[in-house]
Amino acid sequence: EKKNPGEGDFVQAMGEIVESVWDWLKSDDGKPYLEANILSRFVEPERVVMFRVVWQDDDGATRVNRGYRVQFNSACGPYKGGLRFHPSVTLDILKFLGAEQVLKNRLTGLPIGGGKGGSDFNPKGKSDNEVMRFCQAFMTEMFRHIGPNTDVPAGDIGVAGREVGFLFGMYKKLHNRFEGILTGKPALLGGSNLRPEATGYGVVYFADAILRQAQSEDSGDESPLKGLTVAASGSGNVAIYLTQKLIELGAKVVTLSDSSGSIYDKEGIDDDKLEFIMDLKLNRRGRMSEYADKYDGVEYMEGERPWSVKCDIAFPCATQNELEKEDAEKLVENGVKCVCEGANMPSTPEAIEVFQSKKVLFGPAKAANAGGVGVSALEMSQNSMRLSWSREEVDEKLHSIMKSIHETCVENGKVDGEDHVDYVKGANLGAFRQVAEAMYQQGAV
Ligand code: NDP
Repeated sequence: EKKNPGEGDFVQAMGEIVESVWDWLKSDDGKPYLEANILSRFVEPERVVMFRVVWQDDDGATRVNRGYRVQFNSACGPYKGGLRFHPSVTLDILKFLGAEQVLKNRLTGLPIGGGKGGSDFNPKGKSDNEVMRFCQAFMTEMFRHIGPNTDVPAGDIGVAGREVGFLFGMYKKLHNRFEGILTGKPALLGGSNLRPEATGYGVVYFADAILRQAQSEDSGDESPLKGLTVAASGSGNVAIYLTQKLIELGAKVVTLSDSSGSIYDKEGIDDDKLEFIMDLKLNRRGRMSEYADKYDGVEYMEGERPWSVKCDIAFPCATQNELEKEDAEKLVENGVKCVCEGANMPSTPEAIEVFQSKKVLFGPAKAANAGGVGVSALEMSQNSMRLSWSREEVDEKLHSIMKSIHETCVENGKVDGEDHVDYVKGANLGAFRQVAEAMYQQGAV
């Protein structure tokens, strides 16, 4: 805390990681890494770049934002992690996200390190031209620090295909190279099939694996999610494709939300309603309240989160710290069996404590939402080979990545003498051990 003043989110995330790996570091197995000071090295980002972004709005006024790239750890491959454009972006948040990303990326088993970046720029209410000028200005600095073998950013909150396209165009102009320096690109620019869907689908595959692990009998081809009632938050990229996959598997999604409030649709969101949400949120960037206006019997909870409703399983998919202790207690009271994180660090430590003490199955973000970066790494491979895999091929690979992450969590998180799996410990320890070994093998650098 003394070394990182005012960086509460970063300290919180690091505290959780240290707690999961400390016993192992003190064991005979972990001692060499403790003695080599791997933990002290791990908590220090390898490099942080902060820069001024100057651009002009449609009225010709000059605007100034701050840009960042946190290159956290490259022990296992080029830095990899999204760019976030949101007014809440600070160095603290990007450092916490960068650290999480290092472990998440390791869990995928693919050769990538971890980083995160972005800006306090708010794309909301900006015209396409303003967003383009901002992205171009951002890239005029960031191009110096990235490359296919150095650092390959992607999208995150506020950065999707449109922004990635503008960023890519400016990089190409500056470097005169058409190369895979960003993932999450539109298909014509070398984007992978299924990248937009990957995080949401991956969360569902992970939840499916958790429920199967907890079952006494294998349900075979039928997903244990079938027939379950789901409360999800958010209505962006992650929440939308999560809902799509859940509908396909026969679950009933009754809530979604945005930063203005939540909808509660007891009948459940079906394919037609989801199509409306896709147009509303992904194309028109509108408010979820429009959904409540359009469909009968839908309750709109203004300014509220969706955690007060009855559900079997909850998927927080909006933003960090959106599920607090009281929300967790309410969910438990309403009989929730499993909580799986689609967003990064959406549950506070106190909320996680509630779930774990009540033996609610809990899938932490760095394991559950790793499908997005997994497919991003597949996009890097496709770009290097200059070919494109089909949707089905990518989906199959995504499914097997999520199953393998689940296995790593079980191996490292099984509670002695119990059937219960501590997925938080399993994900942290399973990933950290590998990153520690890769750092160790590279000597004291
Ligand atoms: P989007 O920008 O597409 O959507 C974010 C959603 O969360 C929107 O519905 C937004 O509402 C809502 N939201 C944002 N801030 C708040 C807030 N303070 N309170 C309530 N709701 C809020 O982002 P993504 O869906 O891509 O990302 C969601 C989360 O998933 C983030 O934590 C991200 O880091 C994480 N993630 C995303 C990955 C990806 O592949 N996209 C990969 C791994 C993790 P509004 O429309 O009002 O802004």
